[in-house]
Amino acid sequence: MGGTFDPIHHGHLVAASEVQAYFDLDEVVFVPTGQPWQKLDREVSPAEDRYLMTVIATASNPRFSVSRVDIDRPGPTYTIDTLRDLSGLFPDAELFFITGADALAQILTWRDVDEMFKLAQFVGCTRPGTESLELPLDKLPPDRVTLLEVPALAISSTECRRRVAKGNPTWYLVPDGIVQYIAKRDLYTNH
Ligand code: ATP
Ligand code: MG
Repeated sequence: MGGTFDPIHHGHLVAASEVQAYFDLDEVVFVPTGQPWQKLDREVSPAEDRYLMTVIATASNPRFSVSRVDIDRPGPTYTIDTLRDLSGLFPDAELFFITGADALAQILTWRDVDEMFKLAQFVGCTRPGTESLELPLDKLPPDRVTLLEVPALAISSTECRRRVAKGNPTWYLVPDGIVQYIAKRDLYTNH
């Protein structure tokens, strides 16, 4: 599961858990992005903070792990590189790339899309606010793409950051350890 995870929240965790159970996956590997190429216009928190928050949030689940492949690779993150690295690390694994339906709607604009579909199956999780999204379903290979309805949590990292900046609580939107990590590192307060 790729994401910026700035910060990771319960929407990400519920989606990952649901996909794990639906496909009976051995493991869900969370892959925090390096510098995300779609988000070059905004300040993204340091990769090490996003990595540590992802570790904290996933540590208690024996089927969840975190990979550093994207944050250790220099330059902007492209999913094709993520998939090449992961298929090198797990040569015998059948890979599923978990993403939100909003991201899946953009997938045809991603780099080397044909090779991506060869390396992994793509799972797009529904997300509140994306119900009306037009997926280019006729252009996506049906055997490589699944749209999965997951329990709706109207949580986004953007909203979590806004809440911290305004002094509003993020308890129960993100795991307790993430509330505490954000405070400890003074993230999202804009000073
Ligand atoms: P931001 O608001 O900064 O874009 P985000 O909440 O969208 O953050 P990302 O790190 O961009 O979080 O998301 C990683 C992936 O998780 C994306 O593919 C996104 O669609 C999916 N996702 C994020 N929030 C949810 C949610 N509440 N339910 C289902 N999927 C989600
Ligand atoms: Mg997003």
